[in-house]
Amino acid sequence: MPNSLTGICRKLVFTATLLLLLVQGGGYTALEGNDNDYFSGQKPAPRVTRVAASETMRREIVEKSNSALKLLNEFWENVFEMNNLAFRRPTVNWTAQPSAFYSGRNHNIYINFDQFISFIRDVSERTKTDGDLAYIAVLAHEYAHAVQNILRVENSTTRESELQADCLAGAFIAHLERLHLLEEGDHDEATLIFFLARDPTGTSPDHQNAHGTGTERVNSYQIGFNGGVRSCECGLR
Ligand SMILES: [Zn+2]
Repeated sequence: MPNSLTGICRKLVFTATLLLLLVQGGGYTALEGNDNDYFSGQKPAPRVTRVAASETMRREIVEKSNSALKLLNEFWENVFEMNNLAFRRPTVNWTAQPSAFYSGRNHNIYINFDQFISFIRDVSERTKTDGDLAYIAVLAHEYAHAVQNILRVENSTTRESELQADCLAGAFIAHLERLHLLEEGDHDEATLIFFLARDPTGTSPDHQNAHGTGTERVNSYQIGFNGGVRSCECGLR
């Protein structure tokens, strides 16, 4: 996504390169249960070390996150209005706690700044792009949990809820495309972060904190991207 909100939409190509990048793997380690909807079922490191990043980079992350949040608010307010439903914006906080998660207890999203930088590095090393859609996709996923909470969606497993959140994030990213806000590589960045945040091999689909395999997460994201919120089966048109 460009810094300004007037970027030029370039042709999105789901490249063979990306498939190669996906096969290279990576990902985050081991999984345990928790109370919050983390972006990944893989347990975050107990402490996130402050990552070296220039002030420019930090400022850019804050600016783009704020722009994305404004767009998320507008997008979801509009969707709820079209569905004749009341909406309540979640609050987003930067936190020292590792990873990114949504808490249904206070309708707050928590984002770890250094984790965002890690996401950028993990993705941009593979895609050779700026990696901004990696963290914007994470923000969109956490925001989707807030949407699920407002709707009181009841999925039978955590995994279903997580895949639905990936789908809803895809619907929002398609909205960015319609607004001509995606740059070349953005779609690949988002796809890759969902793949990297996959469950460790051998995780039961019924595990209390399962999020889905890499293929499942990428598929759900793509379903939402191509079919919009209606395709995510949470009752919204
Ligand atoms: Zn989640």
